[in-house]
Amino acid sequence: NNHLSERINNMATSATLAMAAKARELRGQGKDIIGLSLGEPDFNIPDFIKEAAKKAIDENYSSYSPVDGYVDLKQAISNKFKRDNNLEYGLNQIVVSTGAKQSLANIAMVMLNKGDEVILPAPYWVSYSDIVKLAEGVPVEVPTSIASDFKMTPEQLEAAITPKTKMMWFSSPCNPSGSVYNEKELKGLVEVLKKHPGIFVVSDEIYEHINFRGGHVSIAGIDGMYDRTITVNGVSKAFAMTGWRIGYLGGPDWVAKACTKFQGQNTSGANAIAQRATITALEAPISKIQFMIDEFHKRRDLILDLLGEIKGFNLNVPEGAFYVFPDISSFFGKTMKGKKINNASDFALYLLEFANVATVTGEAFGNPNCIRISYAASEAELREAISRIKAAL
Ligand code: PLP
Repeated sequence: NNHLSERINNMATSATLAMAAKARELRGQGKDIIGLSLGEPDFNIPDFIKEAAKKAIDENYSSYSPVDGYVDLKQAISNKFKRDNNLEYGLNQIVVSTGAKQSLANIAMVMLNKGDEVILPAPYWVSYSDIVKLAEGVPVEVPTSIASDFKMTPEQLEAAITPKTKMMWFSSPCNPSGSVYNEKELKGLVEVLKKHPGIFVVSDEIYEHINFRGGHVSIAGIDGMYDRTITVNGVSKAFAMTGWRIGYLGGPDWVAKACTKFQGQNTSGANAIAQRATITALEAPISKIQFMIDEFHKRRDLILDLLGEIKGFNLNVPEGAFYVFPDISSFFGKTMKGKKINNASDFALYLLEFANVATVTGEAFGNPNCIRISYAASEAELREAISRIKAAL
C-alpha cells in the first residue's frame, strides 16, 4: 500500500503471531489444531502474583506510573539482578517497559544510527531483525547449525565484525534453539569483543530461569563487559505473565536515561497494576516457580524421545527455554501428498495442513533448515501432536 510508510511496508509480520492467527482461523473452520507455535507458558499466573495485582487495584494504583517504572519495582529489579546474576545495577540504570520487546525496541531506537550493523547469531528471536531495521540499523546474521549446538564461535564473531558494527544481540537460553552459552563460551566471545571496544552487547536473559543445566551466566558479569552490556529481562516467561506486559533492562546509566526519554514520548510508564504485581513476582524465591521449570524439563525429554523416532528430524539437546528446533532439511525436494517441500516454510505449512499441528518456520529466526516447535503444551497434546506429525510424514 503506497499510502503507508516505507517503514511499515518494509517490516515483516511476526511469523510466530502469523502462524498463531492461521491456526486460529483453521480452528474457526472446525479443525482440531494443536498449537505449538507460540512462545508462551501454558501455566496460569501463580496465585500469589494475582493477589498482588488485586491488591494494587484496591489500593488505587490507577494513575500514570513514572516513565521508567515505580521506584520500589526498580529496587526489586536491582535486588533480583544482584541475587540471580551478581550484577549491581543502581536505580538510575534500570528502566521498566511494556514487555522485554519494548526494552529491546527502546535500545535500538536510542543506540542505532542509520547503517549501524548489529550482529545477530542465527537462529535469533524473530523480532530482533525487524526491531533493528525499524531503527535503520542493519542486521548481520551469523548462521550457526546443530554442529555447534546453534552457538556462535569466537571465530565467527570476529569474521562478522566490520568498522560499522555497533552491537551484538543474543538470547541465552536461546529462543528458538534452546541453546545455553556456558561461561567458557561467553568468555571466548568476550576475548574477541575486547579487541573492539566500541561494540555493545544486548544480552536477552528472559529465559534465564528455564535452564535445565543450571548455572545461568550473564555476559555483563564477565570482566570488561559491564559498561558495554545491556541486560534485558522480564516476567513473561518465568512467571507466565505474558499478557501483563512487563519487561526491564539494566545497563549504563546513559542508556537507561535515553530509553526513559524515548519511552516518555512514546508509551509512557508501563501498566501500573502489572508493575505492582511484578514486585511480588521478583521478590519471591525461585522455589515458587520451580514446578514450571521441572515440568518443562520433563517435557523437553519427552519431546526429544518422541521426535527422535521420526526419521529425518535432526535434533540438538536444548538446555533451556521451551522449544526444540529440529533441522528438517532432509525433507527438502520431496513430494508428499502431492505437496512439494522446498523449504522450512513449506514444511511447517505441510504439518499444519496434514497433521493439524502449528509450528513455525525457521526462516523467521534466520535459519532456513529448521522449524521451531514449542513444548509449552500438555503432555497429552505433545504426544498427540508428535504422533500426528509422524503419521503425516
Ligand atoms: N526475548 C525473547 C528471546 C523472547 O522469546 C520473547 C518472547 O517471546 C521476548 C524477548 C519478549 O518478551 P516480552 O513478552 O517481555 O515482550
